[in-house]
Amino acid sequence: MADRLYLDHNATSPLRPQVREAMLAAMDAPRNASSVHAEGRAAKRLVEDARAKLAEILSAPRESVVFTAGGTEADNTGVLGMVGGGPKVRRLFVSAIEHEAVSVAAEHAGVPVEIVPVTPQGALDLSWLGERLSSYDAETDGPFLLCVMLANNETGVIQPVAEAARLARRAGGYVLCDAVQALFKLPVDFSTLGADLLTVSAHKAGGPVGVGALVVTPGLAFEPLLRGGGQEEYRRAGTHNVAAIAGLGALCDVASLDDYARLEALRDEIEAGLPPEATVWGRGAPRLANTLCLSAPGFRSETQVMAMDLSRVAASAGSACSSGKVRPSPVLRAMGASEAEAGSALRISMGWDTADDAPARFLAAWNKEYERIARRAA
Ligand code: PLP
Repeated sequence: MADRLYLDHNATSPLRPQVREAMLAAMDAPRNASSVHAEGRAAKRLVEDARAKLAEILSAPRESVVFTAGGTEADNTGVLGMVGGGPKVRRLFVSAIEHEAVSVAAEHAGVPVEIVPVTPQGALDLSWLGERLSSYDAETDGPFLLCVMLANNETGVIQPVAEAARLARRAGGYVLCDAVQALFKLPVDFSTLGADLLTVSAHKAGGPVGVGALVVTPGLAFEPLLRGGGQEEYRRAGTHNVAAIAGLGALCDVASLDDYARLEALRDEIEAGLPPEATVWGRGAPRLANTLCLSAPGFRSETQVMAMDLSRVAASAGSACSSGKVRPSPVLRAMGASEAEAGSALRISMGWDTADDAPARFLAAWNKEYERIARRAA
């Protein structure tokens, strides 16, 4: 993959070398962290070491961290587990821009789902939420769960989670915050965010695919998604994926917020090099430094992704292409984009290994293809 420019870190970020080393070391011997012998105890130490490091980064108690096989499992467990057990919530409020790991799980939860709109800038509409919850009667309507992510995977727009959580709590609700795209890119403080449940995943910042965590307020019960053994204090059955968890632990050692802060200048450089008719979604709103979502008239998402790929640039049309088919981004539609605008979006996401010449390389490729395919046709 020499000479290629990888700008799809929000899909999966390349594995960091230190993480790979830690995983290889953990894979050296087959170990089960639930075994009582010395090998098992050594594996358990790796798991508990990773738990302590992740808990520290999140300012959460250790016992709050439940390891899962990634963000999707953590989101599903949070949503379905709060309906099926614990407070048995009777209604879900889901932001219009949630990842499918939350929104599709909500559709299958068997309780009414209300979509919370976002502003044209792509942030949760707090006035709508405040108004709706002012007439919510938890006594008769039962407890509810509000699902709002910390940073959007397509636009990077940072959501007002603490404010939303205050409104939800006042009305007798619980809050699930999907922080999958925020971890290691923003400070994520479970102790002050106001969420009852928080979800993270390792592979968006250079950790392994297939490991994440659900972080739960101590004492808050929920119905486990996976049943079987007593791992994770009976909250997630299944033999621990020790190597992946050790990789997440190593990621906690090496990932730093500075890796991402430096990307803001690169993102701004790309924005400045786009033609004036291009739209940058969420521009002006607080956003992740690594993410840029643009639309250009007449340059369809799938055409852009293919043209960039042929120009040796990996970018994506957003999470909506997870099935392999590109459809107009529901996130952009929720922000008020027309079908044509939402169908001509490209997401660029940078990461820990993005070099300083990335903007120049991207702009040279993109502007050439835009000129050739879209502008000439207009
Ligand atoms: N939540 C968000 C915001 C995401 O961006 C993703 C991945 O794209 C997920 C959840 C799912 O995480 P995972 O790929 O670890 O299952």
